Amino acid sequence: MKQVSIIIALLVLIVSTFAQREHPARPTETGGPLRFEQAAFDVLNYDISLDVDPKARSISGTTVMTAKVVIPTNAIMLDLDTPYTVTKATEGGREVKFTHKDGKIWIWLPMTKQVGESVTTSITYSGSPRIAPNPPWIGGFIWTKTPSGADWISVALQNDGADLMFPCKDHPSDKPATASMHITVPDPLVANGPGKLESARKNSDGTTTYTWRMTNPIANYSLVFNAARYRLIEDKVKSVTGEMIPIKFYILPESYDKGARLIAETKKYNAFFEKYLGPYPFRAIKLGIVETPHLGMEHSTNIAYGNKYRFAEDGFDWLMFHEYGHEWWANLITASDWRDFWIHEGFQSFMDTLYVEETKGKEAYFTAMKTRAKATRNMQPVAPREAKFAHEVYLAAPDYVKSDGDIYGKGAVVLHTLRYLIGDDAFFRALRRMAYPTKEMERLTDGRQERLVNTDDFLTIAETECKCELDWFFEMYLRQPKLPKLIGTTVTDCGNNCTLGLQWETPSNMPFPMPVDVVIDGKSQRVEMKDGKASIKYSGSIPTADPNGWVLKAQ
Ligand SMILES: [Zn+2]
Repeated sequence: MKQVSIIIALLVLIVSTFAQREHPARPTETGGPLRFEQAAFDVLNYDISLDVDPKARSISGTTVMTAKVVIPTNAIMLDLDTPYTVTKATEGGREVKFTHKDGKIWIWLPMTKQVGESVTTSITYSGSPRIAPNPPWIGGFIWTKTPSGADWISVALQNDGADLMFPCKDHPSDKPATASMHITVPDPLVANGPGKLESARKNSDGTTTYTWRMTNPIANYSLVFNAARYRLIEDKVKSVTGEMIPIKFYILPESYDKGARLIAETKKYNAFFEKYLGPYPFRAIKLGIVETPHLGMEHSTNIAYGNKYRFAEDGFDWLMFHEYGHEWWANLITASDWRDFWIHEGFQSFMDTLYVEETKGKEAYFTAMKTRAKATRNMQPVAPREAKFAHEVYLAAPDYVKSDGDIYGKGAVVLHTLRYLIGDDAFFRALRRMAYPTKEMERLTDGRQERLVNTDDFLTIAETECKCELDWFFEMYLRQPKLPKLIGTTVTDCGNNCTLGLQWETPSNMPFPMPVDVVIDGKSQRVEMKDGKASIKYSGSIPTADPNGWVLKAQ
């Protein structure tokens, strides 16, 4: 017996935009294990007031948090980044004792609050916010100028946490049910934010206060603002539900002429996502886009766009497509812990590649997936079981200054492999039910359409749709880092009576009954490998296993 290599088609190498970037610094902590003094309350609303001074590159303001007590407590903890000074803290209108140390504010209540009681904290603070070392990946504030020299301010902090801007419960498991932002900027700057613009009030000191109100649950890292001499382009698009979705694009005056083209593209993307995943979740609020100095971010109802209108030949804008898809995979459903960050990035990266199939055909899709498979690092599990800080899954251990990339590319290929395993019908039903478990939820727009999710939810949904058992699949690809290897063995000089032996070699001998396509004498057949092995008779040339690259495996 002799080992022969399994023939794999040559790959076209396309560098994935998010894979393995070098950064000048590591992010600050966001998420991680929830402390008791965070778990004890559930945030209902943030009311964020900020005075923004671009000259001094500083901010000052007050954040009022309304929350409900869910575990009796006399202490609560909020995060607020170290550069800020807290000058006052109240609860229920009365001043309370607090300490602000190492980026955390501890608030001591005079009496233990009971379950169901409300907590209303008001924190007044000021300072010079952390300047983003490499936005949007390593975040903070961006104070820059537009091409014509006017002030341009932006905030991106997903990997660092919203405590870089306002005091908050810095954990993905707690999206406030609603939020307001009152951003005061010097005229003629326009402050842009999530939700709907409620008012723009001119003040006597040459500033204007813009009030933005979000009436659906929103992730903390989406509660950011941008300011510039923005112009507004308004349009609308018809949802698959028949409702009209208002489009609001805050664009630099310099870019105004390019805005309509990006909107036309985004309408196509909306139709694609609605077809596969169900209606745009925030159609009662807006489809928002804002031009930013950083590359982009999926801020809910207000997509940060900084790809400089670099459309592909066919008009495609990959950044807009990617961030817009996050309105489903991040903002409609949100990972309750950063350990499941891949539900945002892997699912959306799968959609990025599915759009290649939609527009360029199946061969282009296979090529793109093979490129992603080749770029996997396989150093840490895609979906670890323990609570994680965002940087621990986004970036590579041990120093967290290099992007890991697997939550994107490997996540996408895992879904691609699942698609092969359970077939298109079950797979696309599972995808849609992950976004919206029921038809009834697809009709909601008042916030109840949103869910906090984890990887096991998708396991349950996929198993329901395929009527099969998928623990082994999730264990292999998501819970541990290593890839299975397909070993092919055959005897040379066997004439017309040859046998190809196939076997999965797996880490720790994990069970892996993954079928694989084998091309024998020019004909493709699906070979079941129930015990992780199979043998196939052939005559003529050595068969080719998995020529399309359906199954993610060691290469
Ligand atoms: Zn993304």
